[in-house]
Amino acid sequence: MRIMGDVFAMLKGGPMISQQIDTIMPTGLQTITDTFDRPLRNVRLSVTDRCNLRCQYCMPEEEYVWLPRTNMLTFEEIAMLVDVFTDLGVDKVRLTGGEPLLRKELPVLVRMLAHKARIKDLALTTNGVLLSEQADALYEAGLHRLTVSLDTLDPQRFQALTRRDMHVRVLAGIEAARQRGFHGLKLDTVVMRGYNDDELIDLIEYGKRVGAEVRFIEYMDVGGATHWSMDRVFSRADMLTRLRQYYGRIETVVEVSSAPAQRFRLPDGTIFGIIASTTMPFCRTCDRSRLTADGMWYLCLYATKGIDLRQPLRDGASLQELAAIITAGWQARRDRGAEERKALEQRGSRETLVQLERLRQDPHLEMHTRGG
Ligand code: SAM
Repeated sequence: MRIMGDVFAMLKGGPMISQQIDTIMPTGLQTITDTFDRPLRNVRLSVTDRCNLRCQYCMPEEEYVWLPRTNMLTFEEIAMLVDVFTDLGVDKVRLTGGEPLLRKELPVLVRMLAHKARIKDLALTTNGVLLSEQADALYEAGLHRLTVSLDTLDPQRFQALTRRDMHVRVLAGIEAARQRGFHGLKLDTVVMRGYNDDELIDLIEYGKRVGAEVRFIEYMDVGGATHWSMDRVFSRADMLTRLRQYYGRIETVVEVSSAPAQRFRLPDGTIFGIIASTTMPFCRTCDRSRLTADGMWYLCLYATKGIDLRQPLRDGASLQELAAIITAGWQARRDRGAEERKALEQRGSRETLVQLERLRQDPHLEMHTRGG
């Protein structure tokens, strides 16, 4: 079934109105849509808020408030919620964090999810530090798609950015994944002006060598990015200019997709992506939601309020009751957080999304809690 909707027509002003959403629905499943006709298709499961790196764009502070361990969802609880989500049309699930490979026995959860026929796309995002030890077990458990975050090929830069000396382990992790046969390997790079914008070509060439598609992400002022400023953003336009100077003609890959990355083709056929959340937000096709490790469900990366699914689950809610909560939440969804952040910028007033004091009071507002 194909659904066309003029989803943003009811929004006033701004360049994004009257954009068409063109979504192919899964057959045989019910599909719920939000107030802008966007389907619920995609859930990112954060399995821990802990991380073994301290990237400046995500976790720049010295101290963090962590989620209480007793609140962490068990694998059985996660699997039960996933059943409800897939009944409602979700067919893409991504494991994330924090650093997901810090979650004990993660392959056990992967195996539980890999057996669910309704999940068409099961993937994981990792910083790669623990990947060489876990790649085999994850693959054997049924995980075949991986994204590894890699911001630099320079070990010293890596240490300056992440405040950890683990670059060699990340590269070893990527190599282990390649050897194990993970297909669709992706490398995600947050590009920051004056930090790593001189590495775009080297990263694409590295991607070619390891058989991975590189995706460049604009620096976003999500919760936790307390050092964000617009002059640190190296935009999609800047990236394309830089890459054209070196590679020549770059074609846009034409495809219908709700994926965040827009993809491009180099003259030799190499594909790379750009996720331009800051300068060209894609809220109109966003079908993603996020479940934190303690069961709070967020309908937008920028949302400051979530829906608590842990409490009803632990109070013994039935699958139908959980489905009713999720359905009501999604049907009321009006979020278009990245577009609203961009509009603020255009008006010339923009402070970081969430101030430090507030992050300390509610760690759910942190990017590392809700998952990227
Ligand atoms: N630890 C895992 C990893 O490093 O891939 C998964 C969690 S991490 C929060 C997920 C993604 O969010 C990473 O690719 C990271 O680079 C991205 N990210 C975090 N803060 C960001 C920011 N301020 N702007 C853009 N991307 C960001």
